[in-house]
Parts: sequence; C-alpha cells; structure tokens
Amino acid sequence: CGIVGAVGAQDVVAVLVQGLQRLEYRGYDSCGVAVYRSEGPQPGLYRARSTARVADLQAQVAAEGLRAGTGIAHTRWATHGAPAVHNAHPHFSHGPGADAANRPARVALVHNGIIENHDELRAELQARGYVFASQTDTEVIAHLVDALYDGDLFEAVRGAVARLHGAYAIAVFHKDEPQRVVGARAGSPLVLGVGAAEAGVPAPHFLASDAMALAGVTDQIVYLAEGDVVDVQLGRYWIVDREGRPMDAGQRPVKTVQ
Ligand code: GLU
Repeated sequence: CGIVGAVGAQDVVAVLVQGLQRLEYRGYDSCGVAVYRSEGPQPGLYRARSTARVADLQAQVAAEGLRAGTGIAHTRWATHGAPAVHNAHPHFSHGPGADAANRPARVALVHNGIIENHDELRAELQARGYVFASQTDTEVIAHLVDALYDGDLFEAVRGAVARLHGAYAIAVFHKDEPQRVVGARAGSPLVLGVGAAEAGVPAPHFLASDAMALAGVTDQIVYLAEGDVVDVQLGRYWIVDREGRPMDAGQRPVKTVQ
C-alpha cells in the first residue's frame, strides 16, 4: 500500500515513520519499518512491525532509541496472507537452511502490489532450502534477492525483478551494503526524493510510493517510469530502465513539487 525508504548520513528513522503517517489516510491493516543499525552491540538489520497504528510503530522505535541512516518502511493492505504481524512488511531473508532464522537477517524488503507467480517462485526457493515465515506473495522477492545476491544488491534486484510477473513497487536493502537501498517499479508507483547536501554532509536520498510521503523532507522528486530500477546510495543515485540502460537527468528529470 505505502512505501518509504531512505539513505542518509544522519538519522532517517523519523523520516520513515512520519512518511508512513502521511500515507495513513490511504488505509492499511499493518505497518513496519526496518533499518540498518550500526550502533549498539549487534550491528545489523533491525525490524519493528505492528497491526495497530503507525503511532504504535513510532512508540516501539522510540522505546528502542532507534537511530539509523538507512531504512525502509511500509503500510500494508493485505492481498495474500491475513493481516498479522508475521505477514507485515518489511520481510527478511536470512538465507537458505532450516536453521536460517538463527542467523542474522541479510535482506529486508517492502512491496506494494501483487506477484502473480508467487507459488512457482516459492516452490523453487523452497527446493533451494529457503524457509518461509509468512503467507505473503512478497516474501518470495526477499528470498529471490538473497539467492541472486553476489556482492552487488543492484544486480541482484535487477535479476529478481526479471523473474516477477505482476505489479510491484519494491524497496530493499542488504546487510553487507548498509548505505544502499534499491527500488524498482512496474505497475505500482515509486518516486525518488532528492535531498540536499549540507556542509560536509552528503545529500540524503529517499524513495516513496507517493511524493506526499516526503512533504517537508524534500520537494525535489524524480518520477520513476515503468520498469525502472533505482540504486540509492549515500549522496548519489543511479536509474536504469527496464533494459538496463542508464537514464540521465534529461530522461528522468528532477521536478519541484508543490
Ligand atoms: N501483496 C502484498 C501483501 O499482501 C502487498 C500488499 C500491499 O500492496 O500493501 O503483503
């Protein structure tokens, strides 16, 4: 239903949660946020999810004192799998194996839309040892990205979306590339929000299913086209079209929204 993502040098948790609050009017049955946590004894992927309001999510992350420069967030309108915390996004992949859940999460992913060939992909991934934690169509994408990951998240996502039939906007990150979020869209909207660099601090960049989610954060928006894949890194971004051709600022202009 709603997506927000961010990569910045400073804390983006408030941007993620407030972005969800700006999308709340669309309705949702659950919500969640995942970030790369670099502080604390256990660096890595952290997730909070709720079947209550975004305010409940906000209370969870506040209680945790959560701060992070990279993350993704989602409001869900369930299509596959009942509204429940274990079906709420972000979905994780811990990699293949029956004991995978005991290992740190590797991939975090949010998705809007419907993956029509999820049964086929799930069967293929289960045969490769992936254990599913939800009943969603979305979780197949997280494991597919993990299965295709070979040190370059952008290439893994390009490979994964080539296997998807249906409608999607996704945002995904990987524990081994903590300052990178990759987005892709086909059949569901996704925009890139271009932040401003400050003295000595690289510009943060954002993803959202609707520019409105970034109101007050940035009014500089790139509307991604059908089939685009966008690579968001600290202080820079890169967009390719469905065929993998790089899109320049003339082809994907930055627009100022009101
Ligand atoms: N099909 C996905 C699910 O049911 C995404 C739904 C949405 O767009 O919120 O989890």
